[in-house]
Amino acid sequence: MISIDRSFQTADLGDVRVANRAVVLRHVRLHAPCSRADVAARTGLNKATVSSLVGELIEHGLLRETGLTENRIGRPATMLVLDGSRHVGLGLQIGADELVVVAADLAGERLLTWRRAFAAATAGPDETVRALAALTRRAVTRVTGAGRAVLGLTVGVPGPVDADGAVPAAPALGWHGVPLAADLRRALRDPGFPVGVDSDANLAVSAELRHGPYAGTADLVHLTGGLAVGAGLVSGGRLLRGGRGFAGGIGHLPVPAAHATPPPGTPACHCGRRGCLAAVAGVDAVVRRLLPDVASDGPVTDYLPEIGRIQALARAGDVPVRDGLAETGRQLGHAVSILVDLLDPEVVLVGGHLAALAPWLLPAARAEIAAGTSGPPATVRIEASALGSAASALGGATAALATVETGQLPLA
Ligand SMILES: [Zn+2]
Repeated sequence: MISIDRSFQTADLGDVRVANRAVVLRHVRLHAPCSRADVAARTGLNKATVSSLVGELIEHGLLRETGLTENRIGRPATMLVLDGSRHVGLGLQIGADELVVVAADLAGERLLTWRRAFAAATAGPDETVRALAALTRRAVTRVTGAGRAVLGLTVGVPGPVDADGAVPAAPALGWHGVPLAADLRRALRDPGFPVGVDSDANLAVSAELRHGPYAGTADLVHLTGGLAVGAGLVSGGRLLRGGRGFAGGIGHLPVPAAHATPPPGTPACHCGRRGCLAAVAGVDAVVRRLLPDVASDGPVTDYLPEIGRIQALARAGDVPVRDGLAETGRQLGHAVSILVDLLDPEVVLVGGHLAALAPWLLPAARAEIAAGTSGPPATVRIEASALGSAASALGGATAALATVETGQLPLA
């Protein structure tokens, strides 16, 4: 959730001007490079208003003139693009075995992506907040040293988040009632920019909507493939949050296949029940089921090498591994077929660690979706996310820039 901070001026300008600035910024983002006349013609705002708004947006470092001109009858026009040079948004992500920070600017450029190995599930909330704050301070030092101002920070967590940026329950982390936004703000000693928290799934699908190969798809789903499996849902071009902000908890849908044949030794889901999707398709469950030697070694703190071993075995044609991946794909497909019946998405993207296993998961998932949906044959595409394992952090950085994108002017 993003809260609007007092460091943004609004009161003296009026809501209409704020809304019109957002219209101009959005137009330039989608159609740059474009001239003031193009903006006026395509948005319906009059030329004088556009000229005044553009002047203000240039002054505040949100737009810039490229110096390019467009030859047309009459006089040449100066072209406008988004200006990424002055401000950045920061996004952080609590992954299965790492913390990630991304800094991105208004023009969509990613300025830094840093990872730090960290097992949040065993560390607990206090240590996680300290680690997030340390990573944030390093990133802030780097971007401010490069002459940029931080407009905001948004953290993605593997679980639902309430309107105050608190995490009521993240079973995958063993967290209950953690006021993460408030704790992080305190740890950063009131950093001078807004600190927000959202579910990693919501942030990841927002990143897909803006930056991924399916950007702009109005009905889009991103499934996180970490310790938890969450669904970020975009329907009709809008993020679906639900009444309390808890929509998208696909990881705790019961998967019938898991009920019928629970693999030996499969632990109950973190939520306390059995047969949830997350208990069979979460990265920890997949690694333990397919690599039995891992199960006896205690908690896994780095999944990347284990995922690499699974890939190597699958490539070499190892039958139990291939069968296990196909079974996981079927269970994933079962859960997605429910989403398809409910929301009718065009594209479902599988992210996180599961993206690396997509070549072996997705054929079975597609077959299950084809068999499991009602009505006309499903046309939904299910693909691996191309944004990599920092999708939620990128979405967090993008979300942190939302305040200016809605027309507020930064003071910095
Ligand atoms: Zn569960």
